Amino acid sequence: MNIHEYQAKQVLKGFGAPVASGVAITSASEAEAAARQLPGPLYVVKSQIHAGGRGKGKFKELGTDAKGGVRLAKSVEEAVAHATEMLGNTLVTAQTGDAGKQVNRLYIEDGADIARELYCSLLVDRSVGRVAFVVSTEGGMDIEAVAHDTPEKIITVAIDPAAGVTDADVAKISDAYGLDGAAREDAKSLFPALYKAFTDKDMALLEVNPLIVMTDGHLRVLDAKVSFDGNALFRHDDMKALRDETEEDAKEIEASAWDLAYVALDGNIGCMVNGAGLAMATMDIIKLYGKEPANFCDVGGGASKEKVAAAFKIITADPAVQGILVNIFGGIMRCDVIAEGVVAAVKEVGLKVPLVVRLEGTNVDLGKRILNESGLAITAADDLDDAAQKIVAAVK
Ligand code: ADP
Ligand code: MG
Repeated sequence: MNIHEYQAKQVLKGFGAPVASGVAITSASEAEAAARQLPGPLYVVKSQIHAGGRGKGKFKELGTDAKGGVRLAKSVEEAVAHATEMLGNTLVTAQTGDAGKQVNRLYIEDGADIARELYCSLLVDRSVGRVAFVVSTEGGMDIEAVAHDTPEKIITVAIDPAAGVTDADVAKISDAYGLDGAAREDAKSLFPALYKAFTDKDMALLEVNPLIVMTDGHLRVLDAKVSFDGNALFRHDDMKALRDETEEDAKEIEASAWDLAYVALDGNIGCMVNGAGLAMATMDIIKLYGKEPANFCDVGGGASKEKVAAAFKIITADPAVQGILVNIFGGIMRCDVIAEGVVAAVKEVGLKVPLVVRLEGTNVDLGKRILNESGLAITAADDLDDAAQKIVAAVK
């Protein structure tokens, strides 16, 4: 689950990280009052969408000469003018895709006098099984280019979970940034605070880009992106409350309402499976035969007929899907329940693309009979290999 920048800053502030003061608004009429709460004389009007690259982004409706999705203003009036122009329009950034995202919310923030823009993120470094800081002196709006062209400028500092962020870790990060004076002092509390926020709240990613050194020598978190580990959200009701469903894929919301694991991908074969291992094997074998999965929906063990039907409807709702492969190994899950769910879903929403079904395991004969007697145009497959070849052939 992702949250907005202004929410992420609120969370980080709670852990003692230095952030600017700011006010989130959803209508232009709130802009003036919001800006007047800030000290000035510099204001920043920031689009709140779940995508980065806003500064360099362009509004579809405003043409290429208009300013981007993060704008500086030197007066309250200018901030209001920006807010009025930005709200409701569609921002296209390197991360949104061509469709862009509608800006329904702005964060009006105190402007900072920036001396240096640094990059700092925390993530789970699976190669060492630890939370790690990833830092670079080359912060700001081009970190992707830095990672591509000069990867040696990106440094990783993994944290020992038993010790937490030690003085030595802070020194290592501070040296990598070349911090001195007030910034070096600030670092002693900032980096442990970021680590504590990450681990306490079960984050999957915390990215501060840029972390700035201001002209007064102090550090400030100027941008913040936070993603939470969905599997741990059940123990963070306060974070769950920050969810903005208008920013999420409708199919993923529907899937999570049914407690289904749904993942959208780039290809055109929709996959219904049970279990993560079977999902991966199914996707691998589709690729082996020359096609790409459009998505997969894992119905897990012991799903009801209604849940299976919901999964099937989510898969077919993706316009990229040109064929569906149902690949189920019935262990706890029963093949007849899968068959009933698929038949119920097809009766409700129809079947416009080829469907290949491979069932194996508990109640397989009953499951096959339900599919056969349904009268639906379903291609039965004997095993995984056969199933993959049949769906790839049907889509080609
Ligand atoms: P994005 O990464 O989506 O482009 P950022 O929040 O990083 O958005 O903002 C882009 C750039 O705008 C920053 O790199 C920084 O130069 C400038 N900026 C953002 N917030 C402020 C602020 N409060 N004061 C001054 N400059 C800012
Ligand atoms: Mg940024």
